[in-house]
Amino acid sequence: MKTPQQAKTILCEGNNNFVAGLKNGNISIDRRTDTAVNGQHPYAIILACSDSRVPVEHIFCAGVGDLFVIRNAGNVVGDFDLGSMEYAAEHLGVPLLVVLGHNKCGAIASALSGEPAEGWLGVLLDEVKAAVVGAENAAEAEDLNIRYGVGKIMQSPVIDHLVKQGKLEVIGAKYDIISGKVEFWD
Ligand SMILES: [Zn+2]
Repeated sequence: MKTPQQAKTILCEGNNNFVAGLKNGNISIDRRTDTAVNGQHPYAIILACSDSRVPVEHIFCAGVGDLFVIRNAGNVVGDFDLGSMEYAAEHLGVPLLVVLGHNKCGAIASALSGEPAEGWLGVLLDEVKAAVVGAENAAEAEDLNIRYGVGKIMQSPVIDHLVKQGKLEVIGAKYDIISGKVEFWD
């Protein structure tokens, strides 16, 4: 089992390799067989945006069995997302949880535009709007949305308990869709 710091180091190195175009994650048949037989032991939970320009495994040069990924438009934190995080943290023992926002996020732009949205998209954007109150521009709103997500995750008693025990760390991070670089906030 890895520590939160070790998991963060692996993510950082993976992202450096991605930025440099150096290598890919392990998606070999051997790796697939190994994880199918011996189970999964991912080193990080990543909540990311569904944006097609944010391919989470690629960004970290991760392969099969490496990352427990949750995605939705705007990387918002809802009930099912929290349930997935609690499962991975508690039952799989994943030591690091990253809320990964990104620049040029369409969900954030929609929320900032103030234009009404119908259906479930409206529900999702209401959540983003609550997160970005007071933001003066898109970049600031993206940052606020990441912080809001981290704050909401920490309200989970299951997550809070694991963090206090030192078994889990919850951090924010931001992905630049142009440079490919991930900036970790802690
Ligand atoms: Zn987005």
